[in-house]
Amino acid sequence: MPSCIICHLNINEHTDSFKSCKNLHLVHKTCLAEWLLHSQNCPLCSEPYSQSLIDQFKDYKDNKQKEKQAALDKELKEESIKKTQQVADKILFLKFVDSIEHLIEEEKFNEAIEILLDLYNENSTDERDLKILYLLGKANYLKGRYDMAINFFFKLVKIKYNYPDGFLYLGRSYEKLGLKDKAQWAYDRISSSQK
Ligand SMILES: [Zn+2]
Ligand SMILES: [Zn+2]
Repeated sequence: MPSCIICHLNINEHTDSFKSCKNLHLVHKTCLAEWLLHSQNCPLCSEPYSQSLIDQFKDYKDNKQKEKQAALDKELKEESIKKTQQVADKILFLKFVDSIEHLIEEEKFNEAIEILLDLYNENSTDERDLKILYLLGKANYLKGRYDMAINFFFKLVKIKYNYPDGFLYLGRSYEKLGLKDKAQWAYDRISSSQK
């Protein structure tokens, strides 16, 4: 029984569809369809396949190319949607931070704290949750709840050492409580955390 020069499996001349080059190198029709996507020559003798044979697979090739293009288009589109979404999310978060800072400026500390606590995910170390921790600390500090402020700022700098403002407010909070040594410890870390 002859075999296909592409997949090396047998070709049953009665039941399989097959083709060949001029030198009678047999190939399964399905194997040839794939092969012609890459080359128009016989893989064994490099003899070009006849144009009439190649034409028989034109639709197959066209469809494959369309599929490939469609998949590529889809991927690009998804990528661009994802990017847009990320930008929108970021803008939304910045607006949120703005509005919280505004509440803090207006000394509406409890309102700000309530909103922040609603959003805060204590298992996250995401940059956004660190910002929320910072704002929670700051609102509590300005409200005069230095113990609470210390809790939040401590949590913050434990997750991210390089957060100079966190150490600054941590120091200020300790100072307000008369804990000068601890305040100094925090102040000392403002510059070392930036290395
Ligand atoms: Zn084959
Ligand atoms: Zn050949």
